[in-house]
Amino acid sequence: MFAVAIAVGFAETGTAEALVFRHVNVVPMDEERVLREQTVLIEGGRIVSIAPAADAEIPDRATVIDAGGQYLMPGLAEMHAHMPGQGDDRRYRENVAFLYLANGVTLARSMLGAPVHLQLCQQLADGSVDGPRLISAGPGLGGNIQTPGEGIRVARQQAEAGYDLLKIFWGMPHDAFNALAEAAHAANIEFSGHVPGAVGVPRALEAGYTTIDHFDAYMPTLVDSDETEGVDGGFFGYRYAPYVRDERIQAIAEKTRDAGVWNVPTETIMHSAFAVDLETVREDRPEFRYMPQGVVDGWVNWVTNFRNQDHYDQEAGDAFIQVRLDLIKALHDAGAGLLLGSDAPQWFNVPGFSVHREMAVMESAGLSPYDVLKTGTVNPAEYLGEEDVFGRVAEGLKADLILVNGNPLEDLAHAQDIEGVVRHGRWFSREDLDERLDEIAARNEN
Ligand SMILES: [Zn+2]
Repeated sequence: MFAVAIAVGFAETGTAEALVFRHVNVVPMDEERVLREQTVLIEGGRIVSIAPAADAEIPDRATVIDAGGQYLMPGLAEMHAHMPGQGDDRRYRENVAFLYLANGVTLARSMLGAPVHLQLCQQLADGSVDGPRLISAGPGLGGNIQTPGEGIRVARQQAEAGYDLLKIFWGMPHDAFNALAEAAHAANIEFSGHVPGAVGVPRALEAGYTTIDHFDAYMPTLVDSDETEGVDGGFFGYRYAPYVRDERIQAIAEKTRDAGVWNVPTETIMHSAFAVDLETVREDRPEFRYMPQGVVDGWVNWVTNFRNQDHYDQEAGDAFIQVRLDLIKALHDAGAGLLLGSDAPQWFNVPGFSVHREMAVMESAGLSPYDVLKTGTVNPAEYLGEEDVFGRVAEGLKADLILVNGNPLEDLAHAQDIEGVVRHGRWFSREDLDERLDEIAARNEN
């Protein structure tokens, strides 16, 4: 039904050691249910068996985790991630990878690539760097692509270089976009991201975007253009919010579903722009200690300057936030595909921590915890055409898992109450995670 990305991918190396969870409650995510008191055996990076505690055999020399009262759920995917790039410090890049993992993120889709990320994909796959599995866009394509010839060339080049997708930005003319889209399909590489103004959402749906991110360019489709003549939409079209017509939300949700295009809303970034309290944000977000001070200062400056602009319109911003929640709900109700993505590390979004904030916002749009969890587990697997590889807790699937202290189907906050993470069969206990997190925080204090 949905557009499927083409994963090129790196072979992942699982550890040979056996790992066993005893007395654990399993949240399989195949339907909304919990399997109580199970023994889960993991070997070679895969889930080998899930069985009621009484029937299970435990191999000698297995690492055994007594997980009574705890819940084992699939690892989460951050579908709009960023990784520090070519010019950034290697250690910062590796810390970011670890911050994702420490929050239960076992797959990250990096939305702005650089050659160094291809190497990082390999290192994360073979376990020489601790972090999520990484799929990576190539370098950004927007105003730098002006002709059909450039569009064709760059689509082929990035596919050949080994990137998993093309990241579209603004500023690409319509004919260059059309040529790029066609060349991308021919080269078996997906394209996702922003929607250039010259293209627009209706054409983007038709052209075969795999994901549209940030609901980019949706706002103009939600208003009657004769009512907004002379209105400058501004940042993601937020000034159109007071003119939005409910029936248009419904209509575009259905069109999106029919086109099989996924959306990655990245609501937390919009909350950062319009809703986060700048006076208290540094106290409200203890996770800032895991980011370099300069990065946090940059975020605060950006949002401060954004809100200090002459034409900043708080009322429209508030309406915009509500329209987007309505759009999430309408897409969900229509059966259109939603993927979890927060856009980290951008404006107040500390990698990993921000997916949990994003899930809370999605729940506030009216989705159940189960439906929200799907956007970060089974839906990303469907997006990649890898339903039999990851996204559920089931025999034969990759052991990319989170052990949490409460039932996430009852309260999403439990998904962040992490007792440990399994990454391709390797166990990171709470102690392991805290030790490295403390190191990262200590380094940022210097
Ligand atoms: Zn982004």
